[in-house]
Amino acid sequence: MAGNQTPLIGVLALQGDVREHDETLRALGYDTVLVRTPADVSRVDALVIPGGESSVIDKLSRIFGVREPIVSRIQGGMPVLGTCAGLIMLAHTISGGIHDQQTFGGLDITVARNAFGSQAESFEADLIVDGVAAEPIHVAFIRGPVITDVGRGVEVISTLPSGQIVGVRQGALVGVSFHPEVVGETRLHRWFVESLVRDAMANR
Ligand code: GLN
Repeated sequence: MAGNQTPLIGVLALQGDVREHDETLRALGYDTVLVRTPADVSRVDALVIPGGESSVIDKLSRIFGVREPIVSRIQGGMPVLGTCAGLIMLAHTISGGIHDQQTFGGLDITVARNAFGSQAESFEADLIVDGVAAEPIHVAFIRGPVITDVGRGVEVISTLPSGQIVGVRQGALVGVSFHPEVVGETRLHRWFVESLVRDAMANR
């Protein structure tokens, strides 16, 4: 596909806040498809992995047969944005996972699940995310993970005032601990598509 064509953005639709991501992308004018099959994985230009429950997304990805195709597209350079459970799915290593919990990998990081406590301890925050905007973006933390270790080649793009790392980028992969899509924040998605996805499409 040539670089000037409209990107088709997949939203992994196994579990989690699929609809909120799809609506955010559509509100920005992008074409989207809900990804549930290997054929879906092969036709998208990029993938968004929603928040939800990473252990469930992991299990369903194996049952639906999309795990291997997604891993192979990640290794092939497909841009992926993962939020919260989606970040966990992109992490090379997790702590606090359930028995036999697997991830797709791609980001050379370690994440600790449920680092901010229970659902009742959810909070909203205004955070600078490097590259996205000069001003803070508005996001929600809902049983999110924290990034406890980053490898060489991983760029930290967002931290809390406490210093905890909550956003990283490695090549075309972006992972954040928080949810922009549940509070009407669209700038992270726009940046992902306009910068990372269009770059990847122009370079292939
Ligand atoms: N606690 C969830 C998990 O470990 C993530 C929560 C979320 O995505 N909002 O998968």
